[in-house]
Amino acid sequence: MIIKEIIGKKVSNKSVVVVGVPYDDNSSFMKGPAKAPPKIREAFNSDSTNTCTESGLDLSKQSNFIDLGDLELKKGVNVLEYIAHMYQELLDNQVKVLSLGGDHAVTLPIIQAYEKHFPELNILQFDAHPDLYDELEGNRYSHACPFARIMEEGRIKKLVQVGIRTMTPHQQSQADRFNVTVIDMKSWPKGLSRLQFNGPVYISLDLDALDPAYAPGVSHLEPGGLRTRDIITVIQQIKAPIVGADIVEYNPVRDINGMTAMVAAKLLKELADKMLNKRNF
Ligand code: MN
Ligand code: MN
Repeated sequence: MIIKEIIGKKVSNKSVVVVGVPYDDNSSFMKGPAKAPPKIREAFNSDSTNTCTESGLDLSKQSNFIDLGDLELKKGVNVLEYIAHMYQELLDNQVKVLSLGGDHAVTLPIIQAYEKHFPELNILQFDAHPDLYDELEGNRYSHACPFARIMEEGRIKKLVQVGIRTMTPHQQSQADRFNVTVIDMKSWPKGLSRLQFNGPVYISLDLDALDPAYAPGVSHLEPGGLRTRDIITVIQQIKAPIVGADIVEYNPVRDINGMTAMVAAKLLKELADKMLNKRNF
């Protein structure tokens, strides 16, 4: 259904499509992110704000900004393989996909599709956690493992992680093995001088990169994190084409007054602005 919608709407390679991926089977600590996509949309469309980005682009008036709804994830199929297949079809239509998770495990199949289209792909990951575990509790597809799987395939040009504050010896050895650029919180903000890209960039935004004061609606509350403004500023200042992005790990079960949903909607707007505007790179 999602592909038919795309064809019906005559998308071009300038289109940004929003796709929800309501899946949290690989969350290690608590469930909830599967319920995130409609909550983020609700915040985006809330009458308490408007649909303009900070550059003044009204997203509700952009014919090349299209919400395709959520993937229909059926029981009894391999969901991660299905996601990879669907994103392959999406990317065959030359769109840029802005995904709403779901937990961080969904980024693996999304990147598996992206790296086929972009052989020189860079990834910018905002996260409290490196997500580089070889396995967690016997699960190699846990939301704590996606960047181990992505990097061991060897097709990513560069992975830069921002917001990290839970590095373990095992994950440090993985970061060294995969040559990951880790800009951790203890080196914030001077570590930002290492944030440089050459070529297309995919942004994977785990909301727990934010301090829990800004984003309490996540499964893993990790104090000492980024401000909302820090992430917006980094996004706005990237000097490279953004070809795709995801916002993951929003957990509505944990949220307070929908404030994390509003943060997710705000970041959705600024990511969409960056992906839509040619002047941005
Ligand atoms: Mn993560
Ligand atoms: Mn995280």
